[in-house]
Amino acid sequence: MLRKPSTVSSFPKIPEERFAEFHAAFKGGDSWWQVCADCGGECEKHKVGSLMPGEKEFIARSLGLSAASLEDRYLDRVVTPLGNVDVLKLKPGCPFLDADCRCSIRSVKVVLCDAYPIAFEVEGDAVRFFLDPECPISRNRDATRYYEKVAIPALRKLNAAVGWYRAVALYDSLDIDYERLDAGRGDLLTYQSFSLEQLRAAAVETPNPKSQ
Ligand code: SF4
Repeated sequence: MLRKPSTVSSFPKIPEERFAEFHAAFKGGDSWWQVCADCGGECEKHKVGSLMPGEKEFIARSLGLSAASLEDRYLDRVVTPLGNVDVLKLKPGCPFLDADCRCSIRSVKVVLCDAYPIAFEVEGDAVRFFLDPECPISRNRDATRYYEKVAIPALRKLNAAVGWYRAVALYDSLDIDYERLDAGRGDLLTYQSFSLEQLRAAAVETPNPKSQ
């Protein structure tokens, strides 16, 4: 399948060194991996993992891949009226997740995945970060203290454009049935564009992740 050129201007890219600073400052959820294992990776099953502008280039270089190769193997793109957003491949299961529910690219893990259960909402021109009450990690006091003290400031320092958060918010709350979405796609080794309408048509109601 041919790559479709982007028709919407992209968001300003975050410099690569800022992603490196984020990962140096914040060490993700490894300490709470058992909570994820007990939960069974619920957030991986129906959610869309969005990459910040410039994150694709940062991850590709860190993994020794070209951006095009990373796109074809691991990414798709969501086309929104506000701009296009690179996302982890829209298929059942994260392409970087191993059989133990661990991320296989932990040192450069996609920022929004790494920071989860920190979620966000856009209020006017401001982005508000908060702990998603649906994730069992949010019920762990040590974890919530760490995420609030370290993850939220590290996210703010990345300084992704408010417009990018707005674009992601257009689909971020959807729970996607990937089997349904996959029905219309070609092969999995091509970077493909999906519209908001396609995502909405494949959205389902899902139960909350299990409590601990
Ligand atoms: S919902 Fe929370 S506990 Fe469950 S896999 Fe996701 S991050 Fe881990």
